[in-house]
Amino acid sequence: MTSIGIVGAGVAGLHLGLHLRQQDLDVTIYTNRTAQQVADGRILNSVAHMSATIQIEHELGIGDWPDTDAEYSYHYHYNGWGDERTYHGVFEQPARIIDYRIYLPRLMAEFERRGGRLEIRDLSAAEIEALTDEHDLVVVSTGKGEIGALFPRRDDKSPYTTPQRKLAVGFWKGVAPREPRGVEISVVPPAGELLVLPMWSFSGPVNALLFESLPGGPQEVLTDRRYEDDPDAYRALTLEILREFHPTVLERIDEAAFDLQGGAKDILQGAVTPVMREDYTLLPNGKYLLALGDVHMTVDPVQAQGANSATYSAKVVAEAIREDRVFDERFMRKVARRRAERLEASTDWVNTMIQSPPAPQIPRLFTEMVHNQALANRFTENFNYPIRQTDLLTSEARVEAAVAATAGR
Ligand SMILES: Cc1cc2nc3c(=O)[nH]c(=O)nc-3n(C[C@H](O)[C@H](O)[C@H](O)COP(=O)(O)OP(=O)(O)OC[C@H]3O[C@@H](n4cnc5c(N)ncnc54)[C@H](O)[C@@H]3O)c2cc1C
Repeated sequence: MTSIGIVGAGVAGLHLGLHLRQQDLDVTIYTNRTAQQVADGRILNSVAHMSATIQIEHELGIGDWPDTDAEYSYHYHYNGWGDERTYHGVFEQPARIIDYRIYLPRLMAEFERRGGRLEIRDLSAAEIEALTDEHDLVVVSTGKGEIGALFPRRDDKSPYTTPQRKLAVGFWKGVAPREPRGVEISVVPPAGELLVLPMWSFSGPVNALLFESLPGGPQEVLTDRRYEDDPDAYRALTLEILREFHPTVLERIDEAAFDLQGGAKDILQGAVTPVMREDYTLLPNGKYLLALGDVHMTVDPVQAQGANSATYSAKVVAEAIREDRVFDERFMRKVARRRAERLEASTDWVNTMIQSPPAPQIPRLFTEMVHNQALANRFTENFNYPIRQTDLLTSEARVEAAVAATAGR
C-alpha cells in the first residue's frame, strides 16, 4: 500500500492526513508536540477560516463544531483618515474562528480515530530526509521554522527579508460584540492595523486583538514590551494605544472587564518574515520532499491567508495523490503548477497590503469603499478568492477598474 509520511501536525499536515485517510492510504504524521501539549500551550495564532475552507472541512467530515459559536459574516472597517471613516463589507457565507488549541487537538484525535498514525518526534532536517527511505512520499509541513531551509527561497515571490509588521495578539474578555458578528479592521497610519476577531476559545466567546504594527511606529511597543514583565502595565498600555489610535474599538471595551482570557498563555508577540519557497526539493537518494503550508509560503497574517492557503494546498496535493502514485519530478511539477496560481496570488495580495510606504492604490481603495458598498462587499468576499483579490488590488489601474465596475451599484 502507498505509504505517505507527513512532518508536522498543524492545519496543513492534519488536513492532508485526513484527505489521505479518506483514500485509505497508509499515513503517518510526525510531530514534535502532543495534542495535550498543544491544548495546554500558548496561543498559536488567531486563525479565521473562510467559507471556502469550511467547505473543505465539510468534505473532510470535520466541518461541524456544534459545541462552539464562532461564525461571523461582516468586516467592520475604520480608516484613520478622511471625513467619513467607517464602513462594512459582507461575506456571502460565514467565516469561523476557533482557538487552534481546541481545533488542532481535535483533528489529531480524529486522524488517529480514522486509522492514521501519529508519532511524536522532533525531527532534524537529516532525519526528515531519511524518512524518504521509509515512505513513498514525504510531505514537510513544519511551519515557518528553520526546517523551511530545505526548500530554496523564491526571490521572485519574496520581496522582503525582514518582517513588515510587528505582531501582538491576545485573547481578551471585556470587548463587546458587534452585531451582526464581524471582524473589525482598524487601519491607522502610521501605527499600523488592529484586527479584532470574534472567536471561540476555552472560556467560550472572546475577542482576539491582533495588533499589526509598523516597525518604528507608535504601536510596536505592544510587541516589544513583554506582557510577562508587568501584566497590569501591559493591559494599561493596550488601552492607551486603543485610546490614541483605534476609537471604534475603544468604544467596545468595558475597562472593568478588559483582561486576557487566561493570563500569559493568551498572548503571542513576534513577527513574520514573508517568504515563498520552491514546492519541492530533490534529495541525494533520488527522492523528493514536498513542501506544504507555511514551510512553502509564509504570509503576514493581516489578510488571514496562511491557513486558508494551506488547506487549499493540502487538497491539491491530496487530489494529485489520488490520481498518480509515482512521486517523481513529473508529480512534483504537477502539484506545483496546480497550486501556483492561487498561492502566488495570496502572496502577491498580502505583500501588496503590507508595503511601506503603502502602495498608492490601497488607501485609494479603502477611501472608496467608505461609500461604495458593492466594492466593500467584493473586497470582503475575496478573502475566499485570492486570485480575484489580486486582480482587484495589485496596481493602481486594477483598483480604478474595480471602482469603475462597482460605482453606483
Ligand atoms: C497571529 C496570527 C494570526 C493568524 N491569522 C490567520 C488567519 O486569520 N487566517 C489564516 O488563514 N491564517 C492565519 N495565520 C497563519 C496561520 O496560523 C498559518 O498559516 C498556519 O497555521 C500554518 O499551518 P502549518 O500547518 O503550515 O504550520 P504550523 O501550524 O506551524 O504547524 C507546524 C507543525 O509542525 C510541527 N513541527 C515543527 N517542527 C517540527 C520538527 N522539527 N519535527 C516534528 N514536528 C515539527 C509543529 O509542532 C506543528 O505541529 C495567522 C498566524 C498568526 C501568527
